[in-house]
Amino acid sequence: MSITKSQTNVLKNYINGQWVESNTDETLEVPNPATGEILAHVPISTKEDVDFAVKSAKTTFEKWKNVPVPKRARIFFKYHTLLSENHEELARLIVLENGKAFKEAYGEVQRGIECVEFAAGAPTLMMGETLSGIAEGIDSEMFRYPLGVVGGVTPFNFPMMVPLWMFPLAIACGNTFVLKPSERTPLLANKLVELFSEAGAPGGTLNLVHGAHDVVNGLLDHKDVKAISFVGSQPVAKYIYERAASQGKRVQALAGAKNHHIVMPDGNIEKVVQQIISSTYGSAGQRCMACSAVVVVGDNDEFVKALNEKAGQLNMGNGLDDEVLLTPMIRRENREKTLGYIRTGVEEGASLIRDGRNEMDETKKGNFLGPTIFDHVTPEMTIAKEEIFAPVLSLLRAKDLDEGLEFIRKSRFGNGATIYTKDAKAIRQFREEADAGMLGVNVGVPATMAFFPFSGWKDSFYGDLHVNGRDGVNFYTRKKMITSRHD
Ligand code: NAD
Repeated sequence: MSITKSQTNVLKNYINGQWVESNTDETLEVPNPATGEILAHVPISTKEDVDFAVKSAKTTFEKWKNVPVPKRARIFFKYHTLLSENHEELARLIVLENGKAFKEAYGEVQRGIECVEFAAGAPTLMMGETLSGIAEGIDSEMFRYPLGVVGGVTPFNFPMMVPLWMFPLAIACGNTFVLKPSERTPLLANKLVELFSEAGAPGGTLNLVHGAHDVVNGLLDHKDVKAISFVGSQPVAKYIYERAASQGKRVQALAGAKNHHIVMPDGNIEKVVQQIISSTYGSAGQRCMACSAVVVVGDNDEFVKALNEKAGQLNMGNGLDDEVLLTPMIRRENREKTLGYIRTGVEEGASLIRDGRNEMDETKKGNFLGPTIFDHVTPEMTIAKEEIFAPVLSLLRAKDLDEGLEFIRKSRFGNGATIYTKDAKAIRQFREEADAGMLGVNVGVPATMAFFPFSGWKDSFYGDLHVNGRDGVNFYTRKKMITSRHD
């Protein structure tokens, strides 16, 4: 619901080192997904707010790019300390606004801190290359330089980790940054900015503009924004990529997913079920690396039975409760959309062996949906093709590994895929043929660490250089080649 800004508890933007009110009169409520309690109101900022933030980032860039790299990096050591000292509070804030379980939120904070560790290595990461004697008396050197102002647009599902994939490395490399966090999880972004300033980051290095489409379009179209890092759903990622790239900007746009897990007949059923349950239902299935399609190889009904039983034992509730694994979905609209997918699955002939709708309580404010499982799903069905982003799992039956790999090839998405087996030959075939960028071998969530690229393929990624790792450094720097004669 939209309210006016004169109403209470409206978040501020952070521009040029100051907390400032947005120009807008429009705000959105930020409800706790588990209870419906209104935590804050987020301003739907305007293009003028974006212009102000970009101007501040541009002016700061002229000074920041000349700050020696080790001096820039030292801010990230301090930031690391502050984030670690606030680990629990940050995790609690994630639970409040996103709804995920505290343990997951705690893990997310850790993942974010690791990005700061990586960025603190900027002096090494930014080193160039040299070759003496490319021809007689001639040497070549390569130096790295920042790009200027970078814009970052982030999703609701990792309010800490995803912004930290972006701004620490970008800023450590000498750029300045304008962050537009998800309007559904804006609170943590304010805390990240507050601690960054406390760590000694000069005003204007990291600017924060809350809002939605207008802010994003303001960044995409601004001539002084040189690069865009985006993470979110597939249609928006494609739109962002096309609109920003057509204006000559660098873009990395991480998109949606449909991650297949192949269960070979030799897998240890108990362990495999454990991994799949936690990958599928953790964060209510709202993870880009969540398992959403299981390919059961062979007639493994015993596995399907064990999986279904385990799903039936899941505790559903508020993420602050230690016993809970299945937490609410982010908004009522997301649950409504998911109910539509469940109806479509039934209509298209999949067999609904566990119906999470039975565990929904319409009278309660939390956006809960019980664990849902469809069996005998075929690759042509809507529920097999589209990202549902909810606690809904599709089981596809395959006669052998070749057929299972074919299902993965048919998917338009290629973020992650996992195989469960001890068979080395099958593992090798999976590694060589699975058509996705992040693979797991007996690992339920094969998400990469900060020093490796987060490397989705196909419609899960638009661009060339991924976030994190060397790709991230290449994305946030441009190279200058010097060829010198000394004779
Ligand atoms: P979303 O696409 O709705 O929103 C992401 C961001 O884009 C938000 O900041 C939002 O304000 C903005 N946005 C939304 N619609 C827009 C539009 N029409 N024009 C301009 N900006 C717009 O995504 P979400 O629901 O917040 O996040 C979930 C999605 O993110 C899932 O699809 C998930 O797979 C994906 N995701 C992918 C990765 C990855 O690494 N590939 C990681 C995390 C999440």
